[in-house]
Amino acid sequence: MTSATGAGPTRAENERRVARLLDTEWGMLINGQLCQAASGRTFDVLNPFTEARIATVPDGSTQDVERAVSAAHEVSDAWGRRAATSRASLVYALADAIEDMAEDFAVLDAVDGGAPVNVMRNDVEMALDSLRYFAGLAREIKGYTVPASTDLHFTERQPYGVVGKIIPFNHPFMFAASKIAAPLVAGNAVVLKPAEVTPLSALLLGKLASTILPAGVLSVVAGNGPTVPDAIVRHPRVPRIGFTGSEATGRSIQRAAAEVAVKNVSLELGGKNALIAFPDADPRAVAHGVVQGMNFTWSGQSCGSTSRLLVHDAIAEEVLANVTPLVESRQLISPLDPGAVQGTMVNRRQFDKVIGYIDGAVEQGAVVVTGGGRAAGVEQGLFIAPTFLDNVAPDSPVAMEEIFGPVVSVIRWSDEEEAIRIANSVSYGLTASVYTNDITRAHRVARRLETGFVWINGAGPHFLGLPYGGWKNSGVGVEEGLDELLSYTRSKSVSVMLS
Ligand code: NAD
Repeated sequence: MTSATGAGPTRAENERRVARLLDTEWGMLINGQLCQAASGRTFDVLNPFTEARIATVPDGSTQDVERAVSAAHEVSDAWGRRAATSRASLVYALADAIEDMAEDFAVLDAVDGGAPVNVMRNDVEMALDSLRYFAGLAREIKGYTVPASTDLHFTERQPYGVVGKIIPFNHPFMFAASKIAAPLVAGNAVVLKPAEVTPLSALLLGKLASTILPAGVLSVVAGNGPTVPDAIVRHPRVPRIGFTGSEATGRSIQRAAAEVAVKNVSLELGGKNALIAFPDADPRAVAHGVVQGMNFTWSGQSCGSTSRLLVHDAIAEEVLANVTPLVESRQLISPLDPGAVQGTMVNRRQFDKVIGYIDGAVEQGAVVVTGGGRAAGVEQGLFIAPTFLDNVAPDSPVAMEEIFGPVVSVIRWSDEEEAIRIANSVSYGLTASVYTNDITRAHRVARRLETGFVWINGAGPHFLGLPYGGWKNSGVGVEEGLDELLSYTRSKSVSVMLS
C-alpha cells in the first residue's frame, strides 16, 4: 500500500515499521559482536516529535573504547594488506545490504532525529552513493615515480591503521554510512561514534556490518556525553581522527589530540553561510534559492545552510515578498507522514536555543518577516516556524553565530564591496552563494569569498566527487571526493639504488 500521493509507504505503515524496529535490544558493535556497555550503563533516546522515550541504548565508557580500539588495531594490519579491490568488494556488499534495508534506516532517522521520512530516504540514497563511489576509487590509492636520479624513486600510500570517526546528530545515517567509506576502502579499521541524540541508525548499521565485515574492521560505540569520543581522540593507537560537528567540539578535539600525540585531525565544522543577491538577479529565483539553501527540510539543522541573506536594496522587498508564501505554505506534521516537508528541532535544548536567538534579535530591533517562534497551530513536535528576520545588524549574534535552526538573517546592502566585506566578516567559511546574471561579477565575487564552496545561481546541493570542506573556523580538510579517500592514507617514499 502506498500513500495518497503514491510516494511511498503511508504514515501508518511507517509507524508499524518503526514499532517493529524499536522492539529490540540495542547493542554496540565491538570486535564483531553486538554487546552492551562494559559498565552495564544505558541512556534513553527520545523522539523529538512526541518527546517520548523510544529506545534505551548502551552508554559506553573508556573500557568499551579500549576494547574497540584493541580489536581495530589487531585486525588493521591484515585489513590494510588486503588488495584494495578486495576491501572495496566488501564495501560494495555493505552498500547492497543497506539498500535492502533502506526503508528501515529512513524511518529510524525520522523518528530519532525528527526529519521527514521522505528526505531521510534520500539520505540513505546518498550514503549508498558514497559507499559505492569510494569503493570504485579503490584503484586510485596509488603513488607515483619521480625521476630524481638514475635510481628508482617512487611513492606509495599506506593506511594509518585505526581511524576514529565522530559524527553529529543531523543526517545520522548518511554520516554514519558515508563517512566510514573512505577510511575503510583506504585500508583502515574504523571506530565510529554516533551522536548521542541520534544513535539508532548507526547501531543498526553496526548490526548489519557485523554480518559482512571481518570482526574489528568496524566498531560502533555509543555514549552519552564526551567520555567515549574523548577516549577515541586520546587513544594512542588512533592516529587519524575524522570529525564532523560543531566548531567548539572541533577545537577541543584538536586540543585533546595534541595533548597525546601528533595526530592527523580533519574537521568538518559549522557555518554561517551568505547568499548574496545582486540587483540583476530574478527575485523569485533568489527566494527559491534561499529557501532551498536554508535547508528548512531539516529545520535549518544543516552545516551548509544559507542562514544570511545579503540582498541588494533594489530587490530586497520583492525577494521577501516571494519568500513568505513559499515558507508559510509548509505543513508541519509528523516526520513519519509521507507528506512531511519540514522536520522538528532535534531536541528541546536545540529548540530553546533557537527561540532564544530569535527573541534576542527582536529585542535588538530585528523585524520578523515571517515565522518568529514556535509554529502556530501545530499540535505536536518541536517545530519552529521558518523564520526570516529583517533589519538585522551585520555584527549581531543572529548574523554572526551559527544558530542551527530555521532562521535566516536578512542584511541589505547597496555596494558590492560592502556585500563582500559583510559576507567575509564571520569567523566561519563553509559555503556561500552568489545570485547574478553578470558572469564576470559572479566569478569576481566567488573568488573573493572566504569559503570552501561557492554556488553561483544555486544553493544547497553537494556533488559527489567535488570536494566539500570549510575554510577558517569551518574546518580542516575536504571530503566527498578523491582527496577524502587519500586523506586516510600516508605517503611513503621509496628509493631503490640501482647502481
Ligand atoms: P557536536 O559538536 O555537539 O557533536 C558532534 C559529535 O561530537 C557528537 O558525536 C558528540 O558526541 C561528539 N563530542 C561531544 N563532545 C566531544 C568531545 N569533547 N570530544 C570529542 N567528541 C565530542 O555537534 P552536533 O550538535 O551534533 O552537530 C551540529 C554541528 O555539526 C553544527 O555545528 C554543524 O554545522 C556541524 N556539521 C558540520 C558539517 C560539515 O560538513 N561541515 C556537517 C554536519 C554538521
